[in-house]
Amino acid sequence: MKTSVVGYPRIGRERELKFASEKFFRGEIEESALSDTARNIRECNIVTQKNAGVDFISSNDFSFYDNVLDTAFLFGIVPERYQELKLSSLRTYFAAARGYQGEKGDVKALPMKKWFNTNYHYIVPEFEDSTKIGLSGSKPVDEFLEAKALGVDTKVQIVGPFTFLKLTKFVGTKKAADVAEILAGEYVRLFGKLAEAGASTVQLDEPYLVRDLGREDIVFFQKIYDVILSGKCGLQVFLQTYFGDIRDIYDEVIRLDFDGIGLDFLEGRKTLSLLKEKGFPKDKILLAGIVNGKNIWKNDYGKSAAILKEITSMVPEENVVIGTSCSLLHVPYTLRSETKLPEEYKKHFAFAEEKLEELRDLSHLTEGILSENQSLLSNRVDSVDEKVRARVAAIRESDYTRLPAFEERESIQKEALGLPLFPTTTIGSFPQTQDVKKNRSSFRKGEISRQEYVKFNQEKIRSCIRLQEELGLDVLVHGEFERNDMVEYFGENLSGYVFTEKAWVLSYGTRCVKPPIIWGDVSRKAPITVAWSKFAASCTSKPVKGMLTGPVTILNWSFPREDISIKESIQQIALAIRDEVLDLEENGIRIIQIDEAALREKLPLRKSDWYSEYLDFAIPAFRLVHSGVKAETQIHTHMCYSEFTDIIPAIDSMDADVITFEASRSDLQILDALKENHFKTEVGPGVYDIHSPRVPSVEELVGQLRKIREKTEDRKLWVNPDCGLKTRGEEETVKSLRNLVAAAKIIREN
Ligand code: GLN
Ligand code: ZN
Repeated sequence: MKTSVVGYPRIGRERELKFASEKFFRGEIEESALSDTARNIRECNIVTQKNAGVDFISSNDFSFYDNVLDTAFLFGIVPERYQELKLSSLRTYFAAARGYQGEKGDVKALPMKKWFNTNYHYIVPEFEDSTKIGLSGSKPVDEFLEAKALGVDTKVQIVGPFTFLKLTKFVGTKKAADVAEILAGEYVRLFGKLAEAGASTVQLDEPYLVRDLGREDIVFFQKIYDVILSGKCGLQVFLQTYFGDIRDIYDEVIRLDFDGIGLDFLEGRKTLSLLKEKGFPKDKILLAGIVNGKNIWKNDYGKSAAILKEITSMVPEENVVIGTSCSLLHVPYTLRSETKLPEEYKKHFAFAEEKLEELRDLSHLTEGILSENQSLLSNRVDSVDEKVRARVAAIRESDYTRLPAFEERESIQKEALGLPLFPTTTIGSFPQTQDVKKNRSSFRKGEISRQEYVKFNQEKIRSCIRLQEELGLDVLVHGEFERNDMVEYFGENLSGYVFTEKAWVLSYGTRCVKPPIIWGDVSRKAPITVAWSKFAASCTSKPVKGMLTGPVTILNWSFPREDISIKESIQQIALAIRDEVLDLEENGIRIIQIDEAALREKLPLRKSDWYSEYLDFAIPAFRLVHSGVKAETQIHTHMCYSEFTDIIPAIDSMDADVITFEASRSDLQILDALKENHFKTEVGPGVYDIHSPRVPSVEELVGQLRKIREKTEDRKLWVNPDCGLKTRGEEETVKSLRNLVAAAKIIREN
C-alpha cells in the first residue's frame, strides 16, 4: 500500500522559522533572509519525507503565519485597511496577522481562533463588500516547483473553499453564498497554473465537513464543488477531511468526482461504519488516516492492521493509501532531538519523523514488525498510583459544589476586598525579558544555585509589584517569572508527567508550545506556587492574585494518555490543583485565578456530543478545584481565543466569581451572549489585544469600555488586557497598562 502525509510541521526542527520571523519583526534581518530560512525548512521537510519513502507528500503546507490567511491572500481577500498601508506583500500579510503600528498607519490584527479542536490558531479572514476575489499569488505553484526541483512530485495542499468560506467573516452585506462560485472559479484558475507547472495532484482540506452539517451546508458544498470538479485541469483532486467523521455528507461526497477521499479513522468514530453501511466507490483512492497526527504515542500496529483489514475487505488494496489522521503540524518534529528522555519512555513515542516510519511499517507489515510492536506496547513502565486511584474513587457529589452560592459570596467579597468600581487587573504574566529566561535556563543547567535563582525572581517580583502599584492597578499579580509555560510549569511540579527538550508544537503565528506528556497517574508532590505568591503579597498592601492553571487546560495542553479516559485524567489533575488552591488560601492569598484558557479545546466538534462527551465532566472538574475555599476568597478564571458564545451557560456553571476573557479582537460579540444568558459571574472582557505590539490609546480604551458598559452591569465589570503579557516587550506593556488605568479612571467619573 502507498502512504500519504496530510501536512508536515513547518516551524523548523530547531524552530528556525520562529527565530527568523521574530528577527524580521524586530527589523534585524531583511525579507530575503527570512525567505531563505523558510526555503531551507521546506526543503528539509520534503527531503525527510522523501527519504522516508512517503508516496504522497504535501507542498504548500508551509506558512509564514497561517494557512487560512495564506488562502485569503492567495485569492485577494484582504481588507482594505491592510492594503492601504502600501507595504510589501509579505509585510501586508504580517500586518493582517499581527497588526501594524508605524509610520504607514495603525491597524489591529485580524481575529484569531482555534483551529477546530486543536491548539493551533488560524487567522479569521474578513470579507468586505469591496473585496474583489481574484487569484493574486503564486505560493502554491512556487512551492510545488521548489519540491519538484528536489525530485518530488508533491500533492499541493490548499484549504478547501467550503471550509475557507465557513471560517471567513463577512462584514458587509455580502454573504458566503454570493461569492462561492466566483471563489471556486479562482481555485480552478489556480489548478490551471498548477497543471501548467507540471503538478498532478491537489489536496483540498475540508475539515469543516466533520462538523454538524444541515441541508443548506450540503447544498452549498455541492454548489462549490460542481465548479471545482468540472475544472480539474487534468489534476487529481483529493478531498481531505480530519478531526472526525463526515456522517452528514458522506453520501454526497462519495458521489462527487473526487479522485481521492481522505477520511479520519481515529477521531472519526463513525468512519468505518459509514464505509461498511454505504460502501466506497471502486474507482477512488481512499486515504485512510490511521497514524495519529495529534498525539505522540506509538501506533498500535495490531489495531491499525485490524482497521486496514476491514478497509481492504471493502476497497481494493491498490486504492488504499495509509495516511496520517490529520496534518503532523500538531506533533513535534522528531524524537532524535530528545537527548534526556530515557529510552524506556522514548520507545513508546512517535513524533512526526517517527510517524513516517510507522507509515512505512504499516505499508509493509510483517509478522516480525507486528510482534515487536505488540510486545513493546504491552511492556510499559508502571503508571498506576493506587493512592491517586483511591482519592478519585472517593470524590462525592457534594465536592463539586461551592457554598455559599454565588450571590451571597459576591457581596461578602465586595465587602472584604473593598475594590473600586471597575477594578483593574492583568491576566498574570509580565514580559518575559531575556534576563528572566536566562535566569531559568541557568538554573536548569545548574549554572546558578537555587538561592541565586530564587533571589533573582524575587527581585523581579518586587519590581513588578512596584510597577503595578505605580501604574495604579487594583489587583496585582506576581508576574509568573518562574514559568516557562502555564502548563509545562505545573506538569513539572506534578508526578506522572514526562518532559521533552525540543518537542515544540506550533500554537499560533511563530508561537510554539512544548506540551508535557502525561505518562501515569497524576498527583502533587508539594506546594507549587505558594512561596512565590506569598512573597509577592508581602511586597504590597494591595491584593495579589494567586495564579494557577486549571485541570482542563493542563490536560488539554498536555499530550494525554490513551490508556485511561480523559475524564479520569482530568479528575486526578483537579485534585492536585485543589490542594494548591487550599494552600494558597491558607497562606493568606485572597484572590486566586485558575486559568482555563483551553477549556474549549476538546469540546466535541458536533454539538450533540458537547455535554455527554465533555462538558459534563470538564465543568465539574473545575468546580472540584475551588469548591473547598471560604466565601470571602475570590476565584477568578480566564479564557481566551475561542468561541464562547455557545457555551456561556456551561462557563457560568464553572461557578467562578470573576472571569476575564479575550474579546478585543472579536468585536465584543460575546457580550450580547452574556446578557442574553443572564451571566452571573463578574466579567473582565479584555479591552486590548496583547498578541499585538501596538499600544492602545486612552480614547480607544475608553471607547471600548463604553461599549462594554452598554451590555454589562457596572458592578460586575472588570478592566484588564485580554491575556497574559509575557510575549510583550516591557515598554509597550507599561504604556498600554498606563492607558488602561487612565481609561478606567475616566469611566469611573462618568
Ligand atoms: N496567567 C497566564 C498568563 O498570564 C494566562 C495565559 C493564557 O491565558 N494563555 O500568561
Ligand atoms: Zn489568555
